Amino acid sequence: MAADFKTLIGELMQDTYSAETQLIEALPEMAEAASTPRLKQAFEMHLQQTERQVERLERAAKLMGIELDGEDCEAMEGLIAEAEEIVDEHDEGPIRDAAMIVAAQKVEHYEIAAYGSLCTMAKAAGMTEVAELLGQTLAEEKDTDEQLTQLAESEVNPAAMRGMAANDPAARRKGSAA
Ligand code: FE
Ligand code: FE
Ligand code: FE
Repeated sequence: MAADFKTLIGELMQDTYSAETQLIEALPEMAEAASTPRLKQAFEMHLQQTERQVERLERAAKLMGIELDGEDCEAMEGLIAEAEEIVDEHDEGPIRDAAMIVAAQKVEHYEIAAYGSLCTMAKAAGMTEVAELLGQTLAEEKDTDEQLTQLAESEVNPAAMRGMAANDPAARRKGSAA
């Protein structure tokens, strides 16, 4: 149990580190399962971002003089298990893509909560550099969430609604002619 505020921040950072490293394992499978090219791309791009986010946590830990090892983030285990279930239970296509966006946004929201509160705590503890690193990642998670909303609205949900493949040009032409 955390004895003081700095220890608490360290423990929460460790949980977030576990969450991010789990995502590095899961995101390639998400990209693989996505059929909408822009969604596949979004997952691939966020994988690269996530690798940098892990590095930021390592830098922040170094600044604090702590180690990032310990318990796994159980919330992320659950969120990833749900995402895998979605992939297993749906055939490839816009319905699966629409469901995967929901799963991915739940992940981003967990991360936004984690980084948002960590950033606030680091500021309160006077750890300006740590707060800056966490703030950079927080902005990326918010941005990813927003991109997923836009992708759902502009492309994936309408395709799921039409019951057509979002990446099938023939189907799209028919859709726009209707
Ligand atoms: Fe992340
Ligand atoms: Fe957690
Ligand atoms: Fe993320």
